[in-house]
Amino acid sequence: MLDNNTQNLASDVFENYKRYLNPPLARVMKLSGSPVEVRAQGTTIWDQHGKAYLDFAGGYGVFTLGHSHPRVIAAVREQMESMSLSGKTMFNVVLGRAAKRLAELSPGDLRYSFWCNSGTEAVEGAIKLARAATGRAKVVATLNAYHGKTIGALSISGRETFQTPFRPLLGDVEHIGYGDASGLDDVLRDAAAFVVEPVQGEGGVNVPAAGYLREVREACDRTGALFIADEVQTGLGRCGFLFGCDRDGVVPDVMTLAKGLSGGIIPVGAFIARPDVWNRAYAKQPLVHTSTFGGSEIACAAALAAMDVLESDGLVQNASDRGRQLLEGCEALAAQFPHVIREVRGVGLLVGVELTSEGYGGWIIPEMLKAGVTAAWTLNQQRVIRLEPPLVVTREEVETALAALRAGVATAAEKLGRL
Ligand code: PMP
Repeated sequence: MLDNNTQNLASDVFENYKRYLNPPLARVMKLSGSPVEVRAQGTTIWDQHGKAYLDFAGGYGVFTLGHSHPRVIAAVREQMESMSLSGKTMFNVVLGRAAKRLAELSPGDLRYSFWCNSGTEAVEGAIKLARAATGRAKVVATLNAYHGKTIGALSISGRETFQTPFRPLLGDVEHIGYGDASGLDDVLRDAAAFVVEPVQGEGGVNVPAAGYLREVREACDRTGALFIADEVQTGLGRCGFLFGCDRDGVVPDVMTLAKGLSGGIIPVGAFIARPDVWNRAYAKQPLVHTSTFGGSEIACAAALAAMDVLESDGLVQNASDRGRQLLEGCEALAAQFPHVIREVRGVGLLVGVELTSEGYGGWIIPEMLKAGVTAAWTLNQQRVIRLEPPLVVTREEVETALAALRAGVATAAEKLGRL
């Protein structure tokens, strides 16, 4: 339990951030009025004063099942009683079961998986697999993409600010426009892989036209480049489909996952590949890609429970229904405040509200927080506010979030003198 003195708690946390973590980040968070998170359940986070917030930032998409899901917690607790981390030298029962379950859930013949601890690690693994399987070096990715911040994933991401201090990055990387399949054959002809998000999340929630991923699939088939779908954010129900690729009914060669795979309890990442691709890379070298913590018993127990809940509780359908409600509500606001909102985009419960100016988010997000709703910018595009609540969100909660967004947008309009 917490110290009764909530004021002390807030200043302690701030001091610790300032002295031991990240002074500029501490200042920015303080200026934007960030509270201290102390407890979370379902769609709600409580701060140090006991105030409740509907979590529409959703940990950038981690909390598909909501916070502290009781079935995932129970599975992890039970697993901890017998064995938490893998000893590595013996067979691990839960890892085997989680891999089987993931293969059953995944589209087409995706089958062999590798388990790690984060999205960026999953992307690193997929890039390595593609190079080993094809014997080619070049990796093609999309402008404005986000794939993580370890050096390989960073190299194929698309934001200069995140890349500049770390150059030179991975060589043999080419970026092309997102959502445009023309000319793909030329650029993929000598490539190991094309890495693409089914919807660009951090790039500002960019939704490609239907059929784009099908054209990607066909271009990869013609050129021998592997199609790597980065489903770290779009996968496991987020877009109102089990996987983002299902929107176009295509099967990639490799799919990366993390975020929702953890059930919101333990970090988990994975990539899963078609057997022929995997065999070309690793049939004769089973230990060239490994991770000490990856595939631990507790992580796999969490993932198994999370995959069960996702299916048994009908969360994919709820993401589709509530997503439509959220998108339509945002569109109505955009029509009413065109000088504040430029455009609204989204699929399922991944919705982006593009503002006419980057600065307006600095008014809107704190105003939403005051009204008891969290929201966040997208990492590559600060003009876009993302709304990404747990897939368990209810109709009433979506209404509450829309009311908070309306209050924020109205404040921005008022400051502009345009109400
Ligand atoms: N790929 C995509 C599509 C993502 O959205 C993210 C995180 N936002 C990542 C990779 C990186 O995941 P992580 O932060 O777990 O490394």
